[in-house]
Amino acid sequence: MAILIVDDDPQLCQLIGVRLETAGYKTLTAGTAEEAFARLQAGDLEVELVMLDIFLPDASGIEVCRRIKADPRTCDIPVIVLTGSNDEEHLEQAFDAGAIDYIEKPFKGLELLARIRSALRLKAEIEQRKRQAQELIAVAEQLKRANEQLRQLSFHDALTGLHNRRYFDEFLEREFKRAQRSGTELALIMIDIDYFKSYNDRFGHQAGDQALRQVAATFRFVVHRSHDLVARYGGEEFAVVLPETAQPAALTIAESLRQRVEALRLPHPDSPFGVVTISLGLAVRQPKPKESLSQLIEAADMALYHSKRAGRNRVSAAA
Ligand code: GH3
Ligand code: MG
Ligand code: MG
Repeated sequence: MAILIVDDDPQLCQLIGVRLETAGYKTLTAGTAEEAFARLQAGDLEVELVMLDIFLPDASGIEVCRRIKADPRTCDIPVIVLTGSNDEEHLEQAFDAGAIDYIEKPFKGLELLARIRSALRLKAEIEQRKRQAQELIAVAEQLKRANEQLRQLSFHDALTGLHNRRYFDEFLEREFKRAQRSGTELALIMIDIDYFKSYNDRFGHQAGDQALRQVAATFRFVVHRSHDLVARYGGEEFAVVLPETAQPAALTIAESLRQRVEALRLPHPDSPFGVVTISLGLAVRQPKPKESLSQLIEAADMALYHSKRAGRNRVSAAA
């Protein structure tokens, strides 16, 4: 780090240089604006402060100061201007151009060092504040990422990885309103695993969890359009939402879900089917403006109940 002294008077440069070097600072000198910029850009000794004469042969010190402050690479370097006495007008311009302080020529050595020290102290403080502000921004970004992860987690079911009931509720309401607005059909399939209590009783809760995971993976395999949703509704119950889907297509998907689960052939000796099966209830609506979402859910629930009553391992559709 070095202090750059810019003055067209070589003797003055030397005088200041000696004073500063004696006080432990490294110095660079420049006699013209062009030389000053060359020094600033050389980069072998990083400039930590500029002492700048107001009158230079090739440009005004004020213009030089303005350019230093306008360049993002040098804008943080404090500039102290060197002025003659009775030079208030230039002084004002120098402050406007971004100078931090001034020293009147001729100056006392003590004054020179005190001004330099306080300018460097201020610079160090500003740099520290900047670092702290950047750290704060980094922490805020980490927090934002963590929050987003939390939000994702709060919408997923830990056991199966499917979306959870909370997400299902929001999703279905959104799709119901969309279908109401656009006059399109919305299909809802409610699903319940058959005789699952006795599956748990026979094989244990762990095996029950494993079966839930396999059934969930099967659902995900069958329902793969990006705007469809498979969710764990609760316990051993699941729900599938199919936007813009008419009854025949929804029935095909429901029947495919049923067949795929049966085809897993997860042994279930206490079920009349000998394997784990599911019952499904389907409701498809083109919701009218006044119709409520609960009517759709009730219809799908009733259809599921019908499948259970009719012997399980089947699909029923609401009228
Ligand atoms: P049905 O054919 O009428 O649906 O009979 P069911 O035995 O499946 O119905 P019931 O509602 O009586 O039992 C549901 C069972 O699902 C109760 C519980 O043992 C099991 N279950 C619910 N959630 C979980 C879970 O997270 N893990 C495991 N392993 N079992 C669960
Ligand atoms: Mg149940
Ligand atoms: Mg059940």
